[in-house]
Amino acid sequence: MPDKILDDISHRRYNPLTASWLLVSPHRTKRPWQGQQEAAVEAKLPEYDPKCYLCPGNTRASGDSNPSYEKTFAFVNDYSAVKEQQPDYEPEPSSNDLSSLLLQAKSVKGVCYVMTFSPKHHLTLADMPAADILPCIDHWTRIYANHLSASNPLTEAASRLSLSVARDQAPIPRDEYRYMQIFENKGAAMGCSNPHPHCQVPARARRAPPPRRLRPAGAREGGAHRLAERRLPRRLPLVGRLAV
Ligand SMILES: [Zn+2]
Repeated sequence: MPDKILDDISHRRYNPLTASWLLVSPHRTKRPWQGQQEAAVEAKLPEYDPKCYLCPGNTRASGDSNPSYEKTFAFVNDYSAVKEQQPDYEPEPSSNDLSSLLLQAKSVKGVCYVMTFSPKHHLTLADMPAADILPCIDHWTRIYANHLSASNPLTEAASRLSLSVARDQAPIPRDEYRYMQIFENKGAAMGCSNPHPHCQVPARARRAPPPRRLRPAGAREGGAHRLAERRLPRRLPLVGRLAV
């Protein structure tokens, strides 16, 4: 337990994941607050919503229909943040063209999946019994395994996995990607567009910034808390982390 004095004094705290320090000012929460306040959300959701694009059997924006799934369901996001098919764009900035130094951009290809945790519209992971959460973990693992390249040291281990989700029951990529992140964007205030329990699984050809920040701490800890990144060859076929 942290010392009680930390409730009252300004101090800095160590973040072992990024090997950095963060300023904490707990006494600031005692100031008069006249800013924005959010009311508690106590919506009573139905078990099935005919207008929900994630409920079993419903039609999505793309026109595709969801199967009558009983546990989990994964599909390519109809509004993916990154796309598999698009033109390449990778201009080299030049000191002869100042505008190319101010606006530097490179295209990023990838694929984004949505995975539901349950066919029931009104549940969250916290509401589900452990037996119903296991298929979610199996599905995450299978999606990740399906995206490992043949040269990745994890591929051999993945071939021996015993999961409730078969290889062809999880998405299989058309291309090879280097980075995958599994996360849940939960709650309306966080920008979640649908209360049906689900997560996002983007796989990209380029690494995203957060894991790069985690790298110093990961190296110091031997990489044991991450997914084999440290043991892979210099040119990584695929790396990732699990952050749900
Ligand atoms: Zn739903």
